[in-house]
Amino acid sequence: MPHTVPKLNAFPVFMRVEGQAVVIVGGGEEALAKARLIGQSSASLRIVADRAEPALLAWISENGASRIADTYRSEHLAGAVLVFAATGDEAFDRRIAQDARAKNIPVNAVDRPELCDFFTPALVNRAPVAVAIGTEGAGPVLAQMIRARIDQLLSPSLGPLAALAATFRGAAEKLLPKGNRRRRFWADFFAGSPARAAEAGDLSAAHDAASKLLLSNTAFSGHIALVGAGPGAEDLLTLRAQRLLMEADVIVFDALVPEAVVAMGRRDAERLPVGKRKGCHSKSQSEINALLVSLGREGRRVVRLKSGDPLVFGRAGEEMAALREAGISYEVVPGVTAAFAAAADFELPLTLRGVTSSMVFTTGHDLKGGSLPDWAKLAISGATVAVYMGRTVAADVAGRLIEAGLSPDTAVAVVENASLVGRRRFHGTLADLPSLEARSDLTGPVMTIIGDAVAGANFERSEPLAAHRHNEAVLAAVEGAVS
Ligand code: SAH
Repeated sequence: MPHTVPKLNAFPVFMRVEGQAVVIVGGGEEALAKARLIGQSSASLRIVADRAEPALLAWISENGASRIADTYRSEHLAGAVLVFAATGDEAFDRRIAQDARAKNIPVNAVDRPELCDFFTPALVNRAPVAVAIGTEGAGPVLAQMIRARIDQLLSPSLGPLAALAATFRGAAEKLLPKGNRRRRFWADFFAGSPARAAEAGDLSAAHDAASKLLLSNTAFSGHIALVGAGPGAEDLLTLRAQRLLMEADVIVFDALVPEAVVAMGRRDAERLPVGKRKGCHSKSQSEINALLVSLGREGRRVVRLKSGDPLVFGRAGEEMAALREAGISYEVVPGVTAAFAAAADFELPLTLRGVTSSMVFTTGHDLKGGSLPDWAKLAISGATVAVYMGRTVAADVAGRLIEAGLSPDTAVAVVENASLVGRRRFHGTLADLPSLEARSDLTGPVMTIIGDAVAGANFERSEPLAAHRHNEAVLAAVEGAVS
C-alpha cells in the first residue's frame, strides 16, 4: 500500500497585518493572551471590553493598543482583518463569531475550535523571521514544547541577520547570477562570517563581512560601473565612485577625466584611456562598447569613468544597451555635471523663485538645422539654459535665440575648467556670446549658462565677455595696420 501523508485541515499562511485593525473582544486572561500574541505584530490592536482586568489594562497602556470601554456591538468589528472572540463565555463568543462571519472577517474563538475560521500558532519570533507551530487545536501543550525547542535552536541574532540579508538582496540579485553562485553566497551569509559577527552582536562587522563575501563571490563575474568623475576637482567625486575605483581591476576613462581621479584606482589596476586627448589614439564609440563587453566577459571589475555625470552627454545610453544585450551586469553612479559645477563657481541660482523654475541641458548643436528645437522655446519662456560643448557654436546659439525672440540683453555666464583651480569666468549678455568662438585662449572645457537667473550670479571674479570682443577688434585693427 502506498504511504500516504495525512492532509492538513488548517493550512499555515503569513498574513499581512501591518497597520491593519485586529479586534479582540474580551476583558480577561484569554483576551490578554491573544493581545500578547498579536502585540508581536505591527497590526493596530483594538480591544473591546466594557470591563477589563487590571493586567489587561496595564498591558493596553504599556503597548499602546486602543480600548473600547463599551458593551460589545457588532459595529466594533468594522474594518478589522481578524477578530478574536475571547470573552470566556461560550454564547457570547458564538455571537461575536457570527457577527464577524456576517462581515466576512475571519474569526478565532478562544478554546472553541468549532467556532474558529483560523487557529493561532505557537510563535517563535525573530522578526522578520517567524516560526509558527500549529496543531489544529489538538495539542496546545505539544505546540508549546516544540516552540521551546525551536526557540533554543535559533539564535536571537537571527532577526537582525535576516534584516541585514534583506538589505543585501538587491545587490546580490544584481551582482550574482541566479543559481549556484547566488545560493552559495546566501549559504555563506547565513552560516559564515556575517552570521558569526551578528551572533557576536556586532552588526556593523556583519555588514562588512557580507560586503566582502559579496565581492569575493562576484570576482568571477564581470561588472561594469559607469561612474561620473565630476567636473574635474577630485574632491567632487562621490564616495561611491571612490570606493568602486579602489575595487576596480580596470579603469576605462575619457579624455576630460582628470589624472588625479584616475589615480585613485588601485596601483595595479589597468588604466585604459579611450577619449580624444592630444597625441592619443581615440576609440570610436562602437569600439568602446565592444571593449566594455569583452572586459565584462573576461570577468573583470571595470570602472568606466566619464566626466561630470555619466548620463549627461556621455553616450552612456549606447554603452548600457551594449552591456544589456551582452548580459553583463552594470550599474550607474551619478556625478556632478559640468552645469552644476559652473553654477557653483558663479554662485548662480539655476532656479530662482519668481524668475525661473525650469532648466535645459543642451549642446546647441541642434540649432544648425532649419527649424528651432523645442528647448529654444523653453529658453524664451524663461528656462535657464546650460550649453555643453557650446564654444564652437556660440555664435549660432546666440544668433538663433535672439532671432527666436530672446532678448539680446539676457545674462550669460561662461566658465572654462569649472571647479578647477585654474578656472576662468566670463560674464556678459547674449549679444556678447559670439565672441567666444574666436577665443583661441580657451583650451579647456567650456560651459555656458544663459537666462534671467544668471543675473543673480556673483560676477566679482569674472571678466566681461565684451571686453574681449573689443580687444579682438583692436587686435584685428592693429594686425590690419601692420600688414
Ligand atoms: N558628462 C559630462 C559632459 C560631457 S560633454 C557632464 O556631465 O559634465 C563635454 C562638455 O562638458 C564640455 O564640452 C563642456 O561643455 C562641459 N564640461 C565638462 N567639464 C567641464 C568643466 N570642468 N568646466 C566647464 N565645462 C565642462
